[in-house]
Amino acid sequence: MTAPLLEISNVSKRFAVGSRFSSQGLRIVNALDDVSLSVMPGETVGLVGESGCGKSTLGRCITRLYELTSGSLRFAGTDISSLSTREMRPLRRRIQMVFQDPSASLNPRRRVRDLIAEPLRVHTKMGSEEITARVAELLDIVGLKPDHAMRFPHEFSGGQRQRIGIARAIALNPELIVLDEPVSALDVSVQAQIVNLLADLQERLNLTYVFIAHDLSVVRQVSTRIAVMYLGSIVELGDAEDVFSRPSHPYTQALISAVPVPDVGKVGSRGRVVLTGDVPSPINPPSGCRFHTRCPIAQDRCRNERPVLRQLGASRHVACHFPSAADQAAQAVRP
Ligand code: SF4
Repeated sequence: MTAPLLEISNVSKRFAVGSRFSSQGLRIVNALDDVSLSVMPGETVGLVGESGCGKSTLGRCITRLYELTSGSLRFAGTDISSLSTREMRPLRRRIQMVFQDPSASLNPRRRVRDLIAEPLRVHTKMGSEEITARVAELLDIVGLKPDHAMRFPHEFSGGQRQRIGIARAIALNPELIVLDEPVSALDVSVQAQIVNLLADLQERLNLTYVFIAHDLSVVRQVSTRIAVMYLGSIVELGDAEDVFSRPSHPYTQALISAVPVPDVGKVGSRGRVVLTGDVPSPINPPSGCRFHTRCPIAQDRCRNERPVLRQLGASRHVACHFPSAADQAAQAVRP
């Protein structure tokens, strides 16, 4: 049996906000709460959820941009949770990240040639000729022209800047790339081009992706499996098509019911589950099931007892006390 490339086990991340001297004092944000997830080689796991659900924090923990508060991370069989910066260095080239806003992650004063060459200079012993050749190859792989090498980031469109970010990310032949909302800032037509490029690179370079996005249509298109997050926890995990066609958690049902249906003739075949209220504060999360304040089928047990993520069917995991009631409720809203 193939071993996971990445194993996230019981990971929690807390941030301290405010100040001891302010009126509200020092407060603790529970950004991630006991998250476990395995990512297999070659697959794309989509992380979805509303803003503030912890998906980007999880991405930053995976790449060790954030230290874990507790739990562990294993990459290719090695525990990387507590490696020092120096110990992480050889692994840095194997785990890369692409950010949402390429403008913010590209130094505006450096030419594209230097931006793409930077990881090669830092992490390899390549000479300047080799680096020049590799930069030209990377520009070609991501669909940019050789003469783009001498330009500055501001001379490119948003889609082209994201291509530069991707070229930097693949420069060192990584195995895992965390893509943090890689197409959210782009026009829809450009989004499709970048999604196609990522799919092409995955096949060509044997890459594994963790794809973070709030746009479920994009996630459905790219993901092998999806993990739905709510207030710092995974509430549903399963094969992407299966979760989209038969969501089991009330929160997943609400998210999926809000995705626009391209075929107007099919709009009436799917009911809309409307959630009331806002996502509660991660500083003071609700007792029991974190979703009970917005769940349309919440019962007393939900307010007192936190559901664990448990297996429901061959490849599905759901954190809900009453997943079958959720199924019935979802069917009830369908005309
Ligand atoms: S455990 Fe209860 S509140 Fe939470 S999602 Fe399930 S039914 Fe809703």
